[in-house]
Amino acid sequence: MTERLYEKDAYCREFDAVVISCEEKNGAFWVALDRTAFFPEGGGQYADCGKIDETDVLDVQICDGVIVHKVAGEIQRGATVKCTLDWELRFSRMQRHSGEHILSGLVHSLFGYNNVGFHMSEPEMTVAFDGVLSQADIEKVEKLVNLTVWKNLAITISYPSDDEAKEIEYRSKLDNIENLRLVTIEGTDCCACCAPHVLRTGEIGLVKIIDATPNKGGTRLTVLAGYEALNDYSALNRANKHMMKILSVPRNDVSVAAERQTELISSLRYENQELLKRVAWSELSPIRINNCAVAFSEKLSYEELRHCANMLSAEGAELCMLFSTDDNENYIYVISSAERDTKPIVKALNENFGGKGGGKPNYAQGKIVSDSKEKIIAFAEETLK
Ligand SMILES: [Zn+2]
Repeated sequence: MTERLYEKDAYCREFDAVVISCEEKNGAFWVALDRTAFFPEGGGQYADCGKIDETDVLDVQICDGVIVHKVAGEIQRGATVKCTLDWELRFSRMQRHSGEHILSGLVHSLFGYNNVGFHMSEPEMTVAFDGVLSQADIEKVEKLVNLTVWKNLAITISYPSDDEAKEIEYRSKLDNIENLRLVTIEGTDCCACCAPHVLRTGEIGLVKIIDATPNKGGTRLTVLAGYEALNDYSALNRANKHMMKILSVPRNDVSVAAERQTELISSLRYENQELLKRVAWSELSPIRINNCAVAFSEKLSYEELRHCANMLSAEGAELCMLFSTDDNENYIYVISSAERDTKPIVKALNENFGGKGGGKPNYAQGKIVSDSKEKIIAFAEETLK
């Protein structure tokens, strides 16, 4: 059994230990120490990072009561090593994990819902509850969580005996109460947990719920706390400042101004499309073949071609074949007719000019590979005679 320093003192960030074993597996080395402050992966939380002497700790797992540290290089068995945790990462996780206890405790006491899924990644953590939380519920609980944080309450660890445990009300996902470790937040929550936590709630700083999604009939919250909440606020503030500059508005007006801009863009886009259609039509020089119209343009869109086809039909053209060069100097086409089935013409066009496309009997659009205008006109004359 490894002595678990993190259970006794969550703030232990540097320690000496003796190497009990070092085994190579698939190119990595797994080191067991007589004692460790590295928290192994478990309970929805990843393993601590840091160094054993100068070697990076890549993972920490628990196997039959022995905590093993995955490291990049071999470490001499029997050696006394100096171990250092990545403290910023660990403290940030302690802040989030402690914040989660307050959140889950308050959701349980306010709504009776249980925490049925917890996962901590960087930067956020997710907490799933077995009941639906409305936006109003979330806002209420978020405020209460932070009020609890700011009361700077004590967070204490206890190891009750089996008999004592039967008399205590606590939240737990574990059926097995052997070696029970209880984390109590003064007057707020009591929960079985083996992870490191802060000593007082004030150290959490801030708890911010940033998202809520439906999950198996309940709600899953995405939550930030402490360092990560500050980092997030800083990033959002930078983004907001950038948007303030772009939109030339004060800090609280960005979303309204962005909405206004989006509406303006969509109305300008519509006006632009209408103008482009009018320009396309005014510049069109159709060739008349019997009662049909064939025309060539440059860099028009399908929408513009379609508009021109509609205008030609309105003028009495029985069938329209319109072509426009695209960015690759190939042709896009629109073939339309109110009276005739265009499908045989489209099929023949595609076959003759290596094209792709189709549509309905009275309207088709597609692409043909670059070819001379004369050949296409000859094709049209042959097809429409
Ligand atoms: Zn915990």
